[in-house]
Parts: sequence; structure tokens; C-alpha cells
Amino acid sequence: MTDASSVLKTMKDEDVEYLDLRFVDPRGKLQHVTVIKDEIDEDFLAEGMMFDGSSIAGWKSIDKSDMKLMPDASSIYMDPFFAEKTLCVHCDVLEPDTNESYERDPRGTAKKAEEFLKTSGVGDNSFWGPEAEFFIFDDVKFSVEMNKVSYEVDAVDGAWNTDADYEMGNSGMRPGVKGGYFPLPPVDHMQDLRAEMLSTMKRIGMKVDKHHHEVASCQHELGLVFGSLCGQADNILKYKYVIQQVCSAYGKSATFMPKPIAGDNGTGMHVNQSIWKDGKPLFAGDQYADLSKEALWYIGGILKHAKALNAFTNPSTNSYKRLIPGFEAPVLLAYSARNRSASIRIPWSESPKAKRVETRFPDPSANPYLAFSALLMAGIDGIKNKIDPGEAADKDLYDLPPEELAGIPTVCGSLREALTSLEDDYEFLTAGDVFTRDQIEGYAELKWEEVYAFEHCPHPVEYKMYYNL
Ligand code: GLN
Ligand code: MG
Ligand code: MG
Ligand code: MG
Repeated sequence: MTDASSVLKTMKDEDVEYLDLRFVDPRGKLQHVTVIKDEIDEDFLAEGMMFDGSSIAGWKSIDKSDMKLMPDASSIYMDPFFAEKTLCVHCDVLEPDTNESYERDPRGTAKKAEEFLKTSGVGDNSFWGPEAEFFIFDDVKFSVEMNKVSYEVDAVDGAWNTDADYEMGNSGMRPGVKGGYFPLPPVDHMQDLRAEMLSTMKRIGMKVDKHHHEVASCQHELGLVFGSLCGQADNILKYKYVIQQVCSAYGKSATFMPKPIAGDNGTGMHVNQSIWKDGKPLFAGDQYADLSKEALWYIGGILKHAKALNAFTNPSTNSYKRLIPGFEAPVLLAYSARNRSASIRIPWSESPKAKRVETRFPDPSANPYLAFSALLMAGIDGIKNKIDPGEAADKDLYDLPPEELAGIPTVCGSLREALTSLEDDYEFLTAGDVFTRDQIEGYAELKWEEVYAFEHCPHPVEYKMYYNL
């Protein structure tokens, strides 16, 4: 690990005025506190900084609120937006008295998951390639009051309302429903904005490769090159930050909510995963789709625990509006080398080094540290217990006859179901104390609040269906 001296050297060389300490809350939102350079020395970086943990939703109670932010010197980058020169550092959250990782710190969980992969003997490293999609809108107006919810979204590529009617303003140059993959500008309105996002990411040291319009109107994706579990979770937070900031600078807004528009594709975060052991790719072999037995067992673990995983990989009430047939999002818990309607796809790869498993149900409302850790734990459980994933499903699963469909399990249909599934199936997560029961309970409590908030509030669609009955 890079040490404190490198932080001090960068601050000096770059004439940095502020150090921005960043950490993630249980829901996956980046938080920060900014410290002036005069305060930063070897001692500060070794001892960390105290903060009030009781003010972060889902963390400590007010009577035990003191917690410590410990900068991880290996994670520094210059903030690309602030007017004053600011160096950012991602922090781990520690217990102040013992300096041990706070069990509800998601970044701590990610590090423990990486360590558990090694101690379990399954592998040495894991590689992660998340593909987070997003929408860009000109404006979003919503109001949530007692007994009243309304929203309206003005889109860059067209204007939508809650019924997904398409007002065809300048319709000759709009991508239209599912028409965004991927015509040149002027149909693609966001070329320059996406390019600015990708270049900004490159400037702050992220490994990126491409950007493109996605299938839905107003939908986009930028490509991250694969990396380590914790590193890629850090990167997803930077990815969201850069995208939302660049949009904001141009008077637009970007959203990672999984299904902002009814009737068009939703927003996924497919997660490509592989494990290496003794310097070799563990997932390459001579089984189905040139996978190894271990890769098939890994898939078996993810399919077995998928409903509990949904609580981390699809943790919003909105997530389940995406996981429906017909929009390239998976519903059935099956795997295939070809099929984009399966929950797990094996992307074609020329080289054994690139052999990987793509889990397609996650979406970017997930806390990436918790989602990636949970996926890894399910996969490790699969390998340790040699969980058979069954036969591959190579047909278009959306078109199967009802008799065949009936036999295939599905992802959860609601956040309620996901949280209930997690209550019944969490031991694969607590192996090696990677997740703890207390942490899972605290997380579930936060998420039940969201379930109740949503279930207790009348929806505009209900007015339409029931008001004049
Ligand atoms: N948007 C789709 C999803 O919800 C994925 C489409 C794609 O990447 N081609 O997963
Ligand atoms: Mg992609
Ligand atoms: Mg995509
Ligand atoms: Mg993909």
C-alpha cells in the first residue's frame, strides 16, 4: 500500500490546498469532509479524523457516535471540479478505540471479502468489470407529499410523462423507444457530454475504454476497464460523481435509478467477474462455453443465492420495475453463453485470460462494495460446495412456452421479497465474518424503511386505474 508520505508529496508537488476525505454510507452514497492543508501531516494521516457516525443513516446511535475516518493513501486522485486545488482520498471507517474496521463500513466489507477469497483457498485475486448505465434528462420535477406523488421528466431526446407518452418534438432526430443503440449524432445528442465525462475519468486516473448511447432514449453507458473488487467499487462512486457533476455543469441531470421511464429499457449494472489463482485464470476450462468446473460452481452459487443477493444488487423499490420481460433485463435464474435474457451470461472471449461470468441482474442503485462482496461470497460458496448450476439455457427465455417457464426460478419481484429472502439466506455472507449479522440487520432496517415509504404511498398509476371505479 502507498503510504502517507506519498499523499504529502502529492499535496506539495501539486500545490494542493485541501484534502477531501471521502467515504461511503450503507446506501452507497459518497460522503465527504474537506480539510485545509495546514492540518495535514504524518500524524493526521496515521491517526485519521474523528466524525459523528450517528448522523449517517444506518450507522451508530447517538450515544456511541464517535467514529474514525482513516485515509487509504493508495486511493488518491485530484478532484476534477473544485475551484480550489483539492486532493481526494477514500477512507475506511474504524472504531476509534480499537482501530478495527467498523463492521457496517461497506468499504471494510469489500476488503474483508477480498481477503476471504485468499484464506478460503479458492483464489488469489478477483477481477470486476461493472457496466453501469444511466439516463440524462434536461430536468426532472417531482413532488412527494402526503397522499400525493407526481413526477415529470423532460428528456434530452424527447419529452416523457408518467405514462411514457412520447411527445415527438423534432421527431426526425430522436432515437425513440429502444432506438438508441447506437446511431451517430445528431440523433445521439450527448456525444460531447459523454466524451467530457470519459476524459475527466481518465484525468483522475481511472482506466476507461469507451462511451456510447444505450438502447433507451436518453440512456448512456461509459466503459470501465476491469480491476480489483474494492478498487472497482471506489471507481463506481467516482463514475457516478463525474457523470452527475458534468451533467450538472451543463444544466442537465443524470440518474442511476433502475427504471426511470415506463415502456423503455431500464438501467442495469451488469457485473463481469473472474477469479485468478496461482497466476492463472480459474474460470477458463473445457466445460460449457470453455468454462472451468469452478466457474460453473461459481455460477451455481450465484443462482442459488440470487434472491438474497437481490437485497444488495437490486436494493431499491424501483429495481423491480426493471426486472421484467422484454427489456434486456433478466427475470429467470438461468445461465447461457449467448442469451441476454438469462441472469448470467458468459461473454464470448478469445483468450482464456478474459474468461468471465457476467451477472446481469444488478443495477446501479446498489452499494457497489456490498453488491460485489455479496456476489463474490455467493460464488465462493458455490465453489466450496460444488453447487451444480444445472443445464445452460440457450433459447430466448422471453419466448419459452409456459410449461417450460414454470420450472425455472426467477429473481425477486420486489424489494420486500428480496429482504425476506435475505432473512432466510444470509449465512453464505457471514462466512469468515466478511458480513456480520449486525451489519445485515442494520442494512435491512434501512431498506425496510424504503419498502414502507413506497408501499404506503398512493402512486399516480393507481389514480389512473382506480380513481373513477
Ligand atoms: N439496459 C439493459 C439492462 O437493463 C442492458 C442493455 C445492454 O447493455 N445492452 O440490463
Ligand atoms: Mg456494456
Ligand atoms: Mg449496457
Ligand atoms: Mg453487459
